[in-house]
Amino acid sequence: VHPDLRDLLLSRIRDVPDYPRPGVVFKDITPLLADPAAFGALIDALAALCARHGADKIVGLEARGFILAAPAAAKAEIGFVPIRKAGKLPGATLSQAYELEYGTAEIEVHPEAFAPGDRVLVIDDVLATGGTAEASLSLIRRAGAEVAGVAVLLELAFLDGRSRLTPALAGAPLEAL
Ligand code: AMP
Repeated sequence: VHPDLRDLLLSRIRDVPDYPRPGVVFKDITPLLADPAAFGALIDALAALCARHGADKIVGLEARGFILAAPAAAKAEIGFVPIRKAGKLPGATLSQAYELEYGTAEIEVHPEAFAPGDRVLVIDDVLATGGTAEASLSLIRRAGAEVAGVAVLLELAFLDGRSRLTPALAGAPLEAL
């Protein structure tokens, strides 16, 4: 993205130390969401990525990914598909478990949300360890769709989620705005 947009976005992300646990610096995007110029520019940039990578669908990862992915999908005039934490989707689901720092988590999708061969762009707010994004790519492929890429607002490079995600990307781009 343009350096001015990058600076604007960074200026609207607030660091909250020791949340939700001691030692974690939480990246709070609520100031960005409250600023229509910054939020609008972010959604425009995400919609442009959809076009650049030829996406047919956008997946948002619960919960903050929904806030960014749904308006980007509407702007790009393509469908939005939620990947949710286990037990939240009403229909038959595909599930994928993955490792967290402490314990495991599980995410789910409605498989009929994708047409065979759909190219799917995954959107989330923050890439940390990359575990959630990695699991989402498994779900998308298991549902018969293709991965167009992963786009996040912020990549926590010191956690090196990019390395963890690289095999699952299989050549698809990881874009950190
Ligand atoms: P991970 O699976 O480790 O990449 O974690 C990604 C998910 O956790 C994303 O959906 C983020 O919203 C959230 N997350 C992880 N670390 C942070 C952080 N430091 N600040 C804000 N959100 C975070």
